[in-house]
Amino acid sequence: MNLNELTIHELRDKLAAGETTALAIAEAVFRRIDAVESKIHAFISLMRESALEEAAAADRRIAAGDATDLTGIPIAVKDVLCTKGSPTTCGSRILENFVPPYDATVIAKLKAAGAVIIGKTNMDEFAMGSSTERSAFGLTRNPWDLERIPGGSSGGSAAAMAADECIAAIGTDTGGSIRQPASLCGVVGLKPTYGLVSRYGLVAFASSLDQIGPFAKDAEDCAIMLNALAGHDPKDSTSVPAEAPDYRMFPGREAKGWTVGIPKEYFVEGIDPEISAAVNGVIATLERLGVAFREVSLPRTKYCVAVYYIIAPSEASSNLARYDGVRYGFRSAGSRNLIDMFKQSRLEGFGSEVKRRIMIGTYSLSAGYYDAYYKKASQVRTLMRQDFDEAFKTCDALVTPVTPTPAFRIGEKMDDPIQMYLSDIFTLSTNLAGLPGISVPCGYTTTGLPIGVQFMARHFDEGKLLTIASALERETPFEKRRPAL
Ligand code: GLN
Repeated sequence: MNLNELTIHELRDKLAAGETTALAIAEAVFRRIDAVESKIHAFISLMRESALEEAAAADRRIAAGDATDLTGIPIAVKDVLCTKGSPTTCGSRILENFVPPYDATVIAKLKAAGAVIIGKTNMDEFAMGSSTERSAFGLTRNPWDLERIPGGSSGGSAAAMAADECIAAIGTDTGGSIRQPASLCGVVGLKPTYGLVSRYGLVAFASSLDQIGPFAKDAEDCAIMLNALAGHDPKDSTSVPAEAPDYRMFPGREAKGWTVGIPKEYFVEGIDPEISAAVNGVIATLERLGVAFREVSLPRTKYCVAVYYIIAPSEASSNLARYDGVRYGFRSAGSRNLIDMFKQSRLEGFGSEVKRRIMIGTYSLSAGYYDAYYKKASQVRTLMRQDFDEAFKTCDALVTPVTPTPAFRIGEKMDDPIQMYLSDIFTLSTNLAGLPGISVPCGYTTTGLPIGVQFMARHFDEGKLLTIASALERETPFEKRRPAL
């Protein structure tokens, strides 16, 4: 086994035993990147030099007996998080030359733990998309089938994981952008509860929905990553002022005696039969372990796409107003006056999907339409949250598919935004309700594409998600498979 193929906990143990060094791990990761990155294009930029320096510093720290679980672990970060002194593009022309003067809180926390930041991963522009085809810097390919998309918008992070180009990765999830690509690339991906992880230094898409979370190779690594990310930050007013538990205690616990709900609205016509079969397989496996299942109803599920595609674009239109060619990044050359400069910079700087969202959002927030759209959507959102509250009165967790189909072909949905939006139908509701959700590998199609299963839990009940994910992976270790590249 090459070092880049190991988990965080395996590497931590090897480092502690003096069997390897952080420098050797970083070199193994960059060797892998040099070998496969031309096929995948998971990264927008690499941070080779600073990564090797951080690895050397990690080795000194280990020698001094001051290591954490993440000391010397190479991590890839979605290019939507500010990294001091390194370009942060959000996959957009408009931020092509933006170099943040500060680190996002999660980056600062990872660095403080001794992690090695290796590069910034590709993404749909401003995290708007489900396929990573909408990056201004070219698309990312799915390591399991290079003709297919890796999912999105954190597709670069998921693909880098599947291709063993990093040990763990960071993504963001506004409507599914961690769980959906995790599922399509066969890795674990967790969207934490709204408020658990600080978003200071995260370039905002939809502020009432955005969350930062980890991609990991298994539940234990996911717990280690969450430990580093979670916790109150006075710089983010939406971060909850509560102590986070040590998540490492949850993987390995038993789920015996739990009740898991099966929301009937998620098992409808149109799901790929291989996906339903894989999710049914998960249910059978967990039943054998003593988990009880019961059908539950989330009756407002049918509104999730409509509600999300009003709320997310509305908030995006407001957040993206700051890109005016004056303060950040791109400015169109040769404008005749100020208004013209605003217009041309935005016209040339934003891609077509971002413009579509700005238009939808501006419309639904405008006088005379606000009540009919944004306000109405927010009211329905409250009802959706009540559906979950009701279900969680009798259930420890819920189980659903992550996506209706496995990874689709590159180009397949690019001309049809509605089809693209529908690929998130099973992940949007958790964001609207602020709940945590995890995607865990649970099988493969006959053509060898990964399938994931989603578990959701009550607010701040990430521990349950880690417990059930680890129970499943002990029985069916799908997360151990890797694509042949
Ligand atoms: N695919 C969804 C969208 O396009 C969700 C994106 C995300 O979670 N960032 O908005």
